[in-house]
Amino acid sequence: MSLIVQKYGGTSVGSPEKIKAVAEQVLDYRSKGHQMVVVLSAMSGETDRLISLANSVQEQPDTREMDVLLSTGEQVTISLFAMAVKAAGFDAISFLGDQVKILTSSMHTKARIESVDTDKVKKHLAQGKIVVIAGFQGVDENGDITTLGRGGSDTTAVALAATLEADQCEIFTDVEGVFTTDPNVCASARKIDRISYDEMLELASLGAKVLDIRSVGLAKRYKVPLHVRSTFVDTEGTWVVEEDKAMESMLVSGVTYNKNEARITITKVPDNPGIASKIFMPISDAGIVVDMIIQNTRAGDLTDMTFTVPRTDFKKAMELVEKIAADIGAENVSGADNIAKVSIVGVGMRNNSGIAATMFHVLANEGINIMMISTSEIKVSCVIEEKYTELAIRALHDAFALERVDIQ
Ligand code: ADP
Ligand code: ASP
Ligand code: MG
Repeated sequence: MSLIVQKYGGTSVGSPEKIKAVAEQVLDYRSKGHQMVVVLSAMSGETDRLISLANSVQEQPDTREMDVLLSTGEQVTISLFAMAVKAAGFDAISFLGDQVKILTSSMHTKARIESVDTDKVKKHLAQGKIVVIAGFQGVDENGDITTLGRGGSDTTAVALAATLEADQCEIFTDVEGVFTTDPNVCASARKIDRISYDEMLELASLGAKVLDIRSVGLAKRYKVPLHVRSTFVDTEGTWVVEEDKAMESMLVSGVTYNKNEARITITKVPDNPGIASKIFMPISDAGIVVDMIIQNTRAGDLTDMTFTVPRTDFKKAMELVEKIAADIGAENVSGADNIAKVSIVGVGMRNNSGIAATMFHVLANEGINIMMISTSEIKVSCVIEEKYTELAIRALHDAFALERVDIQ
């Protein structure tokens, strides 16, 4: 008998019929004697709907209240799911994050999981129940409801699998696994059988939303193998595991894009020691994550800074930067939110030169201008105009021959 944690995403529980079908599937596992913990997302589209409701009432919604609102999406699916199990004649019990409890930091809408109390879950599992837990939410030390950020249900599942020392953690979604690029953008995308935690971390951080990046970080830290697979097709999915030799033979494993990007440029900044900290400290204090940063030198002890922030934080970041620019005597602030970041990722890049140059050549051939570049050991990212994203993804996927079957 194993202890299995399964997470089902929004499309998998998008209607009462789908919830019933997932309940049947979970009962199949239960009938084989496994202990089952099920983490659910809100119905597809529900979190977006709640966010737009909030935006229609307050221009920049209060984040504490936003969390009270957003946590309701998952409350609906877990209760309906438990009812579906009971309707089939078996026992289940649903819990919200604060009932478990999943303790988080207080950074509303972007909280981090600090601990998971597994006592209650274990007690109900021991009684033979299917334990159903709301993804994406927790509670802070003041008893306030928090949410983990978009896609956060994956992280709830991995945190539970790690703390319960589960035998398996399965992430069920609307595609058959992790692909070489988004299969909904590129028809020749190929399912990857096995991928290393590090590559998956890069893919997730660069926009492959099939797994939330924090879930991959936790899985790596606690050595939880993840199986990403389809709710609707019963095939082997993708295993996210420790790196092995075979993975290095692929130069590039995946191509990703992220449209949740915006660029801010501050020009003619007096170039003194401490200037970068004066600019970036207040931005980080506001909980805004800065990604790429480019600094150019100009004549006359002046410098220009360009950096990217999530598009969802663009307005807030622009307001902050305009204030900072006035304080430090910079000449001008400009910004754009019609940009996207395209990236190539692969552990094989470590030992091979020329991968970045090939990427630049492919983009140039398509007439796509590169605005910013950043690299790490296993990735190259370029910021381009958003309207060229799909073109860039397909061209890169072709150029690195990712549709080919692995030769090992
Ligand atoms: P869920 O609601 O199940 O959590 P998500 O929408 O968060 O599902 O993630 C699944 C989606 O991720 C897919 O429908 C696909 O469009 C997208 N995606 C982006 N990049 C990739 C990739 N490399 N491999 C698989 N799916 C990807
Ligand atoms: N419902 C949340 C979202 O849409 C969390 C999740 O689905 O993982 O982002
Ligand atoms: Mg998701």
